[in-house]
Amino acid sequence: MQQSAAETLKSIDPLPGAEKKHKLKVVFVGAHVDDWIFCVGTLARYAREGHDVLCLSFTPGDSQGMASARHMLLNQLAELRQKDARRGTSLFGARFRILDQNNQKMHVDPEAYIAFNKTLAAERPDVVFSLWPLQFHPDHRAAGNLAYNSWLQSDMKFDFYFCET
Ligand SMILES: [Zn+2]
Repeated sequence: MQQSAAETLKSIDPLPGAEKKHKLKVVFVGAHVDDWIFCVGTLARYAREGHDVLCLSFTPGDSQGMASARHMLLNQLAELRQKDARRGTSLFGARFRILDQNNQKMHVDPEAYIAFNKTLAAERPDVVFSLWPLQFHPDHRAAGNLAYNSWLQSDMKFDFYFCET
């Protein structure tokens, strides 16, 4: 019997957590509304296999540099980018949610750690992906740091992975 391409992929490149044989809660932790793109192949595979995928963005798409370059008001740009992010994530069956920080002003401090620990714990994730913390964008470093801290604080209860950006 011939295996389908999806079955072959499943057997040679299994998704982390899939061995648990139950529906997983998979959370991507990004800084920006479009950061899930860095991990979209993996996230789409989880969604296709019936798992619950949530993409978080710490910030609402409020990049002043992008707004200026496009001669747009900041809130117009943010609205448009949020719409794109909701549409993009829904195309592969994921949900999308914005948290409470701002572009280029992300902060990592005791209050931010505590707030994000609560946010992530409430999702009861099985698998979490975030941004590699040693890279160029300070917001990406902040998101990776906050996610990594939540994993440690949870007693490493869920699987945690960084993705390349
Ligand atoms: Zn980004």
